[in-house]
Amino acid sequence: MKSDIIIIGAGPAGLGLARALADTGLCITLIEKQKADILADPPLDGRDIALTHDSLRIMKEMGMLKSIPKNEIAPICQAQVFSGDSSYFLGFDTKGTGKDALGFLVPNNAIRKAAWDVVQPFANISIRTEAEVKQVSTTATGGTVVLTTGERLAAPLIVAADSRFSSTRKQMGIPASLTDFGRVAIVCRMTHSKPHDSVAKECFFDAWTLAILPLLGKKSSIVITLPADEADAVMQMPLEAFNGRIERNLGAALGKMRLTGERYAYPLVAVYATRFAAQRFVLIGDAAVGMHPVTAHGYNLGLGGADRLAQEIRKAISLGLDIGDSTVLDSYARAHRRASAFLYHGTNILVKLFTDHRRGALALRNLALRVGNHLPPFRKYVTRQLTGKAA
Ligand SMILES: Cc1cc2nc3c(=O)[nH]c(=O)nc-3n(C[C@H](O)[C@H](O)[C@H](O)COP(=O)(O)OP(=O)(O)OC[C@H]3O[C@@H](n4cnc5c(N)ncnc54)[C@H](O)[C@@H]3O)c2cc1C
Repeated sequence: MKSDIIIIGAGPAGLGLARALADTGLCITLIEKQKADILADPPLDGRDIALTHDSLRIMKEMGMLKSIPKNEIAPICQAQVFSGDSSYFLGFDTKGTGKDALGFLVPNNAIRKAAWDVVQPFANISIRTEAEVKQVSTTATGGTVVLTTGERLAAPLIVAADSRFSSTRKQMGIPASLTDFGRVAIVCRMTHSKPHDSVAKECFFDAWTLAILPLLGKKSSIVITLPADEADAVMQMPLEAFNGRIERNLGAALGKMRLTGERYAYPLVAVYATRFAAQRFVLIGDAAVGMHPVTAHGYNLGLGGADRLAQEIRKAISLGLDIGDSTVLDSYARAHRRASAFLYHGTNILVKLFTDHRRGALALRNLALRVGNHLPPFRKYVTRQLTGKAA
């Protein structure tokens, strides 16, 4: 089949773009190195993704919500940020938003499965699995992708959705600024004896950061971020010691805590591409913007970006333009930069401030929480990032 678009990477962003363009009749080829059975039924990976209302709307329009069981979707009604052991917090809630929840938590493997399911009915979308891209190049008239087997595929537009460590971004000469935080996120699920009341908490201690994300029932998704050299010890920590450590860190706010299932470790590296588009080549998802997870926006931005690129491509089709033309790709790139730059850099500044343990930084972040609480435009901006335009 001749392709109009080749998408490298069938992660949530690549599949999202394919689904967003499914009814245009364009022939879309996804190339993915993983096996089809893993993509069709991805294993748990410990990530519970906090979704904004905008993401939920896009997922509903794509039919993804039909594939996600209702008991996998948990509302977040309030969010609280703490510094050290202080009980003072910067709080966000739904007041004035007209919404019942700030956002929703859904397991990452359920999102990936839903993204896979919704592209299956479309004959114009083909997915080449167990196929790895080795080389990408483009000319003024089209792009070529070479697989590790030596097979060559061509299309007028190549989209890279091949993760924050995108090798094709590098091959196309697009630099990216990379921030290695020297820290690791350990994610897991825990049950507790007291209810969480659908409140998400982010607690910044000395070396550790602890996020508690409320799932349905007396269960939470726990995200510990800590210096990389401490990660192995926490991954191997005996069960009782681990349960006790989290319980103590939370001042027993959730009562008795118990780890259920595995712990998963993710090194924390944030990436921002200096350009999102080149000749007949465009970046989406983490390949464009790989966020630090503390503000929970990586997938949300990736999905929003895929939706934005699909809109530009649809516009081009309706005007009879070439979908790989630089005006089409640049228009997406500008809009995606506007949507992501402040969030990306703001998140990195926040992470640095809240993981800096010098006395001055500690005083500054305690002040930041107090000022934040009394700064309605700031609180409104954050709430709006979660609930969408209505807030
Ligand atoms: C601990 C943690 C918590 C998170 N929490 C949140 C959250 O609460 N909210 C939120 O919005 N986001 C969150 N995220 C971010 C979110 O998980 C990512 O943004 C999202 O999964 C990225 O999707 P993607 O499709 O861009 O990339 P990926 O999921 O990395 O997919 C890339 C795909 O490309 C394939 N690939 C790579 N190279 C090649 C090649 N050469 N040839 C063929 N295939 C290739 C890979 O196999 C992979 O399937 C979190 C991330 C982490 C680590």
